[in-house]
Amino acid sequence: MASKGSISGGGTSGLAGFIGPDAPAEEDLYKCVHCGFCLQACPTYVQTGLETESPRGRIALMKAVNEGRIGLDEDVYRHWDMCIQCRACEDVCPSGVPYGRLIEKTMVQVEMRRKVSRLGRLVSWLILGKILPGQSALTGLVGALRLYQKSGLQRVVRISQILKLVPGGVAELESSLPVLPNAFFAAQGQVYHAHGKPRASVALLSGCVMPLIHGPEMRTVARVLNRNGVEVVVPQSQVCCGAIHTHVGDIERTRELARRNVDAFLALPVDAVITASAGCGTRMKEYGDLLADDPDYAERAAELSAKVRDIHEYLHDLPIEPPKGRLDFEVTYQDACHLTHTQGIGAQPRALLKSIPGLTLVEMQNSTRCCGAGGTYTVTQREMSLRLLDDKMTSISQTGATVVATGNPGCLMQLQYGAQRNGPPVTVKYVTDLLDEAYTAEKSVGTKAQPPKQPGSEDSPWEEERDELRTQWKSRPGDRRQRRDR
Ligand code: SF4
Ligand code: SF4
Repeated sequence: MASKGSISGGGTSGLAGFIGPDAPAEEDLYKCVHCGFCLQACPTYVQTGLETESPRGRIALMKAVNEGRIGLDEDVYRHWDMCIQCRACEDVCPSGVPYGRLIEKTMVQVEMRRKVSRLGRLVSWLILGKILPGQSALTGLVGALRLYQKSGLQRVVRISQILKLVPGGVAELESSLPVLPNAFFAAQGQVYHAHGKPRASVALLSGCVMPLIHGPEMRTVARVLNRNGVEVVVPQSQVCCGAIHTHVGDIERTRELARRNVDAFLALPVDAVITASAGCGTRMKEYGDLLADDPDYAERAAELSAKVRDIHEYLHDLPIEPPKGRLDFEVTYQDACHLTHTQGIGAQPRALLKSIPGLTLVEMQNSTRCCGAGGTYTVTQREMSLRLLDDKMTSISQTGATVVATGNPGCLMQLQYGAQRNGPPVTVKYVTDLLDEAYTAEKSVGTKAQPPKQPGSEDSPWEEERDELRTQWKSRPGDRRQRRDR
């Protein structure tokens, strides 16, 4: 067995094992006893039935590389690339295999060794090194996309189908662009004041993509906190949490971003640091592990991690004042992987939904199975991502619910795309949006609330298409409950 940090391939080119301080730890690797309890929890195994696309198979490949029995090349990478990093396997493993830590370190090794063209390196450097950490570049990019949508150019491009001439599935990717909002959310050091006497004060992680794609929904998070007596500050010096960088194995940039966030958030005298995105919450709660070997930051990173709270867990534990306004419709809840599997948060968002008068929570089958969104997965593993999405939309349709609630921007965008693509024509909302709507409906208690609109739907380019889908869906043989019972 090779020792951690050694090159274990016996000197043969292509058979070099894991190297350096960011190699998967053997004590983690050899915890796996091949019992297979994780197989049915793994979405890629369920889809393919292949051992190599299972957690056990992926760990076996890591061991084989570590022992120098196989080399590190594309034939091996592709099985790790196919892993969504949903960590459902970690949740069910009776031996406590820390799969998340293993795949994180393994992807660092892949990132170090993968042969990538100069152009690929340049694109990666631009996205991971410049665009994501510097919010202004990302804002400019998303602003250009918004102009593309609002100017009518998108409609022309779609009608002309010109993107079908571009290779690489660009047309399909373009069709999954979410409708961008009129307003972005920006971290500018602003304070949102509590209603009445403050019960607590928190800092809010703005994030990188979410404030641009779901700016109004970020504002809603602050509004729900304010409504429950919590003052919210949004520190300007915060940066992207590093979750996307982790996903692709860029560990050094992840650490750099984590250090900057430690400085930004610990400078504030707040009771908690709130995240409204499941992936960001998981990343920040694990900053302590990430910077454990950094003598200048280890202690402070652990301190920040201990302060981080997902918005649902925070509101639930506060506790909130239950809304008095009614929302009279059925909702189903999609568990975000990085809430349920890594943070153990599933009961709290459900309890928040159940606190809304009139709202009926209908559980879907396999609500904890990944919807196919995760880091860059929707782009890099498009086919598998869509297969998982199709299964998820089937589960949603079987509930008959008109609204899907979730707690993660990646899931929300993926499910919106699923509704647009093949239906069912559901509206997808954050749990906090529904709470906010119920608080707003307090002003008109006694009148029936309507199902909410899709974010940014006032001038949605696919609204007509959605209405048409809705009509087609309703005219299918048998009603939804009959179909569900089959
Ligand atoms: S990862 Fe855990 S559940 Fe899966 S085979 Fe290994 S020990 Fe069993
Ligand atoms: S993280 Fe998810 S996709 Fe990856 S092996 Fe585990 S269960 Fe499968």
